[in-house]
Amino acid sequence: MHDDRTLVEARLKRVLEERIRPAVYPESVPLTVSVWTAPGEPVPVAEGLAAPRSPIAVGDAWGAPWSTSWLTVAGTVPESWAGRTVEALIDLGFDANMPGFQCEGLVYRPDGSPVKGLNPQNQWVRIAAPAAGGEPVLLHVEAAANPVILDYHPFLPTELGDKETAGDKPQYRLARMDLAVFDETVWQLVLDLEVLGELMAELPADGARRWELLRAVERALDAIDLQDVNGTAAAARSHLVEVLAAPAAPSAHRIGAIGHAHIDSAWLWPLRETVRKVARTAANMTALLEDEPDFLYTMSQAQQFAWIKEHRPEVYARVKKAVADGRFVPAGGMWVESDTNMPSSEAMARQFVHGKRFFLDEFGIENEEAWLPDTFGFTGGLPQIIRNAGSKWLLTQKISWSQINKFPHHTFLWEGIDGTRIFTHFPPVDTYNCSMKGSEIAHAARNFKDKGVARHSLAPTGWGDGGGGTTREMVGKAARLRDLEGSAAVRWQRPAEFFAEAEAEYPKPPVWVGELYLELHRATLTSQARTKQGNRRSENLLREAELWCATAALRTGLAYPYERLDRIWKTVLLHQFHDILPGSSIAWVHREAEATYAGLAAELEELIGAAQRALAGDPAGGRELVFNGAPHGRSAVPAGGAAMAVAGPGDCAVTAREGGGFVLDNGLLRVVVDGDGLVVSAVDAASGREAVAPDARANLLQLHPDFPNMWDAWDVDQFYRNTVTDLLAADEVAVHAEGPAEVAVRVARSFGSSTVTQTLTLRAGSGRLDIDTEVDWHEAEKFLKLAFPLDVHTERYAAETQFGHQFRPTHTNTSWDAAKFEACNHRFVHLAEPGWGVALATPSTYGHDVTRAVRAEDGGTTTTVRFSLLRAPRFPDPRTDQGRHRFRHSLVPGAEIGDAVREGYAVGLPERRVTGSAEAVRPLVELDQDALVVSAVKLADDGSGDLVVRVYESGGGRARGRLATSFALAAAVPCDLLERPWDGTRGEVVADGDGVRLALRPFELVTLRLTPAR
Ligand SMILES: [Zn+2]
Repeated sequence: MHDDRTLVEARLKRVLEERIRPAVYPESVPLTVSVWTAPGEPVPVAEGLAAPRSPIAVGDAWGAPWSTSWLTVAGTVPESWAGRTVEALIDLGFDANMPGFQCEGLVYRPDGSPVKGLNPQNQWVRIAAPAAGGEPVLLHVEAAANPVILDYHPFLPTELGDKETAGDKPQYRLARMDLAVFDETVWQLVLDLEVLGELMAELPADGARRWELLRAVERALDAIDLQDVNGTAAAARSHLVEVLAAPAAPSAHRIGAIGHAHIDSAWLWPLRETVRKVARTAANMTALLEDEPDFLYTMSQAQQFAWIKEHRPEVYARVKKAVADGRFVPAGGMWVESDTNMPSSEAMARQFVHGKRFFLDEFGIENEEAWLPDTFGFTGGLPQIIRNAGSKWLLTQKISWSQINKFPHHTFLWEGIDGTRIFTHFPPVDTYNCSMKGSEIAHAARNFKDKGVARHSLAPTGWGDGGGGTTREMVGKAARLRDLEGSAAVRWQRPAEFFAEAEAEYPKPPVWVGELYLELHRATLTSQARTKQGNRRSENLLREAELWCATAALRTGLAYPYERLDRIWKTVLLHQFHDILPGSSIAWVHREAEATYAGLAAELEELIGAAQRALAGDPAGGRELVFNGAPHGRSAVPAGGAAMAVAGPGDCAVTAREGGGFVLDNGLLRVVVDGDGLVVSAVDAASGREAVAPDARANLLQLHPDFPNMWDAWDVDQFYRNTVTDLLAADEVAVHAEGPAEVAVRVARSFGSSTVTQTLTLRAGSGRLDIDTEVDWHEAEKFLKLAFPLDVHTERYAAETQFGHQFRPTHTNTSWDAAKFEACNHRFVHLAEPGWGVALATPSTYGHDVTRAVRAEDGGTTTTVRFSLLRAPRFPDPRTDQGRHRFRHSLVPGAEIGDAVREGYAVGLPERRVTGSAEAVRPLVELDQDALVVSAVKLADDGSGDLVVRVYESGGGRARGRLATSFALAAAVPCDLLERPWDGTRGEVVADGDGVRLALRPFELVTLRLTPAR
């Protein structure tokens, strides 16, 4: 037979596009449209419904950026349509080639009850099926003119990302606004032909099935009268029945599809718009669940449920019912889909605490899967947190975005730094916006790396970010793919059911040890420095607030601020969303975040101040008390307690250096600053060892051009390193403080349009050089690094992560090592030879890089740590990071890992001084072993008055110790993160009088609920 394959395929494409799809709506009449535009921010629904309307017509422009227009559409179903299915078609001016990221609407009935969302690929509203004929139609649409930020030429700087700069030019034109007859037979024919045509294209050309499909499609096309598609669609469908009924092969890949809309909690729109995006999509999805009995939908992020509950109670009522029916499935058990690189130990834990608790309280549901499809990499600390939250599975898709190395598994056990293993799945469909296209389904089956030993994968299906979620067309296609020869078999499945099935079929999955590093978006550790510092500051203040409020509650009876702490935590957790903390949102989001963090800081300072004043007693007592919120004692003040201030002897000295510069010495550390303000020597007195590499200079600011190929705020591409300017010239190098308690040198520089002032400080009794850097930054597309070339020979270094640290190579042996050219630290980076090391601590920055070089002169190794201070990408915020910034970095020569942990906490938790009458405040709990670190002291969230203390092993070894309480202890119970009694603790926890004996494994965390004797 002659090969006419391409001819028939081209025929299918044209006839579908030009004749069959248009025939889905064979008849229509225009609706009358009127409009009211809200003057500023969105208004309550009742106000929008009641506002006076003016006429507007199809073709008219509407919608200044970020404005809201309330449209009213009215009409009458023609008498002649009696018995037909009638829908309204409302096209706000959508670009249907872009499934979300633009204008959107939510449709209301005249009584204010929501109907469904309107989205680029979801423009219909069912009016009647069947219509009586003659019925009046009246609907209202709350239409949001969200501007397109990520356009066809992506990543161009735009002023549209903040209402303050966006201007008032209308963004859209009203397009089709009609009442129309919906021909379901034609609609079904479209889906038949799409499914078969798309499957056909994926099948081998030398296989019989492909040709059987081709011939069936041809017969169907022959049966269509192009002048009467509606009259012949049923006949055309009859030619497809047999090929659609052929069952899938027994070995076919099995896809568990779950309806989903990945809605970023803020990104190219502000937080307030996400509230509405979520409501529109949830309205859509609850409506679709009613129409489609097999369909299941999942939504993650407790915060998004909380928003609907607060702002759109009518939609929430529908969600609650669908959840109770088991068809709208809360996923993930986290407050938001957060970043996981940067959140602190406690914050990462609280993401699960608040997420799970919300789902438990609202729906009685406890998730066992963590759901993070889009997060930019996963730390080695996360598996233990997932387990301690009572979960056991993880879903993410993002690692498929890695630029260099292809991850070897789709289903595997992921092992964290403490040895916890979590059953993890990466959907091989490689998208969290599956649309049931044949190419996606075939890709999932082909791409699945665990073929032969496993057969199941998951496909989150639907348009996110304002796309409205799953469409009825996707549901229709999934039904055809349920059991279809040549295709993977698709069925709707809840995430928990998928995981249970996947785990059961794969008893010995492969294991991946350590972090899941995303080889992309590395600059998200640096962009929007103020947002990042706001997060750090809030995390530190929350630690202090919980500690001092709990101490004051137990000691003085001061009321514990449960409600305020709960609210503040949730705000901090929201801002750890994977486009806020990473710095990849529009200017509006980061401007608001900065203000929000400032408000939280003021509130937390107030809580801390009130608690400390209560503990310190009457200020007339005149005693100056030093409070220490860090987990280690310092200057004779115990961890978590307070003691009277004692002025130390102070033996700091600063002297002029021959040839320019200064020498700072406190007997523990001797630092030489040269005439350029750079550190040429840092000798740890205890060992006599030099930390700075020979002929190298530390505290060196380096400036790189930084214009990535894509994703400006997200990415730094490796070629940035090819060009570098060392900022050597100093405007001033002068003594800033001269002891005896502290000595400091001040260095001022200017470069480009920017200035920088640094203060290098050595304090009495401390082996730490503190470098405070203040930058007035006015650069574009530059990357500012602070370099410390160290004389340390090592193949790996440690960077702190949640509840421990993870190691990364200092070399680039493999493509996996080379790809990690920018990585995350929490409070410290530590590198060491056996017996001697150097720590660099910071409360300011997360991004860093570490490189090594071997010196020709002496054969020694220079390992250079560089902190990432500032970038200046111009998309999506054209003025990212312009203005003033303050950073602190500390150099600690002669540091063991335990010193790194201690100094890391110390730099972020300075002592506080309060005047009162007390001589001391005894800590509520004390540990007798430095490696055991308290990460939180708080009152139990249940209001019982129990104390909750979280402790972890911080050194990466085994540690035994005793946690002593300074109150009579009635009971001590190990708990999970949600503060429920838990028997999952792997180490030993043994009650021992007024204390608990602990024996923890490397990096193990344990949560203790301590009940005071009453
Ligand atoms: Zn996302």
